[in-house]
Amino acid sequence: MTTPLICNNYINGQWKSAATAILESRNPANKDEVVATFVRSTTADVDAAVAAARQAYRSWRLVPAPARAEYILKVGELLGQHKEELAQLISREMGKPLLEARGDVQEGIDCAFYSAGEGRRLFGQTVPSEMPNKFAMTVRMPIGVCALITPWNFPVAIPCWKIMPALVCGNTVILKPAEDSSACATKLVEIFAQAGLPPGVVNLVHGIGEEVGKALVEHPNVDLVSFTGSSETGAQVGAICGRTYKRTCLEMGGKNAQIVMEDADLQLAVDGAVWGAFGTAGQRCTATSRLLLHREIKEKFTAMLKERTSKLRLGAGTDPHTDVGPIVNERQLQRVKRYVEIARQEGATVLIGGEIAGEEQLQNGYFFQPTILDRVKPKMRVAQEEIFGPVVALIEVNSFEEAIAVLNDTNYGLSSSIYTRDINRAFAAIRDIEAGITYINGPTIGAEVHLPFGGVKHTGNGHREAGTTALDIFTEWKTVYVDFSGSLQRAQIDNRG
Ligand code: ADP
Repeated sequence: MTTPLICNNYINGQWKSAATAILESRNPANKDEVVATFVRSTTADVDAAVAAARQAYRSWRLVPAPARAEYILKVGELLGQHKEELAQLISREMGKPLLEARGDVQEGIDCAFYSAGEGRRLFGQTVPSEMPNKFAMTVRMPIGVCALITPWNFPVAIPCWKIMPALVCGNTVILKPAEDSSACATKLVEIFAQAGLPPGVVNLVHGIGEEVGKALVEHPNVDLVSFTGSSETGAQVGAICGRTYKRTCLEMGGKNAQIVMEDADLQLAVDGAVWGAFGTAGQRCTATSRLLLHREIKEKFTAMLKERTSKLRLGAGTDPHTDVGPIVNERQLQRVKRYVEIARQEGATVLIGGEIAGEEQLQNGYFFQPTILDRVKPKMRVAQEEIFGPVVALIEVNSFEEAIAVLNDTNYGLSSSIYTRDINRAFAAIRDIEAGITYINGPTIGAEVHLPFGGVKHTGNGHREAGTTALDIFTEWKTVYVDFSGSLQRAQIDNRG
């Protein structure tokens, strides 16, 4: 067992050891292993980080965007050099299998190279003026100090998605990572520090969400909050930001569905369902939690899915033989268990799994068996509420129209998928599904960094991370008029007689 990593705050270019209490982050595959100890920061730490970010903003916003981007390029290169070390740490700290953990880091690397390219774009528009000798254009302006509040399920990728475009756009940031991924966040910020960023441009404050996260959201000197987490917490964050006039980007829950039509390639659809439902033990906001199966293929598909699911190997993420890792912590494990009980009470049946894993070698971790719930009805709680675990609900549908109606019948709208060989249905699904992301013949998970990411309804608040749309989160538009006529010209004067 390795010695726990000591995770300090990073404020104004300095690592600050804890003046206050210390918390622990443990390996969910082995609760005896303390992966890291981290600072339980106070509002004083938050004040110091915000002051540093505010001070740094004065000069950082004036650094040319291509030069700002060079730092991000450097971060991308360093992430590449530290990829394996970071992946191992991700697996140990939050449990996902190594293959996925490497993907998490790779997403950060991809994001670095993509965001760095934006340093030489950040395009605005030039627009004709309605008057002679007058020039009109739009330019992107940074917003200021950004509080970035992140979850544990993509402990490297999600902070990168936020920090990188924020910095390229000329903002300074304070990262408040999830308690369960404090070590990953610390290693990531070490890499940003190594890239030589000026002090105060990136700050890190560890601690408890209700304490440090809330203090950041309420802070009068924070201009923007970008939050990824549960819809319940997101609603609270959004309410405070509304009251305090902050720009807010919220990425919240999902209840993603995959439709399988009667003409689908069933093998492909099963492959997609297994990966979508049980990848990262179902702990992705894009995880497949409902399978909407056309009645003609339901029996066959279910048998194939059950057979594949029965072969999945539960284990520590760091074990190369593992297909499905642990649940992140005890609270989440109990939540998953509770939902399976609710499903049973509501009349669903457990086709496979449904229990906390009983194998001796798994006793010391938070392992839940990959679970298929059958006979689920669209209005049951397990078909409506986010579970965030390796649990998928099977719902039978009689037609394409019914499948779309059931898919849309939740408060969430992040990812979605349909397996069909019928091009007309595929395009009708693209049009009619209420979600930020729709996959045709692919699982609900697998976003790429150069495309917009986000959802509708209670999943988001209209923003899209990643892609060029990330720039719309981290900049304000300024409209500029340059009058070179030498005389007063008045707009909106009706001179048509
Ligand atoms: P989860 O259910 O996965 O823990 P949360 O939405 O509670 O999801 O947490 C996501 C992030 O939000 C974490 O970094 C957490 O510390 C932070 N957080 C939790 N509560 C609050 C809050 N009241 N205000 C701001 N941030 C919070």
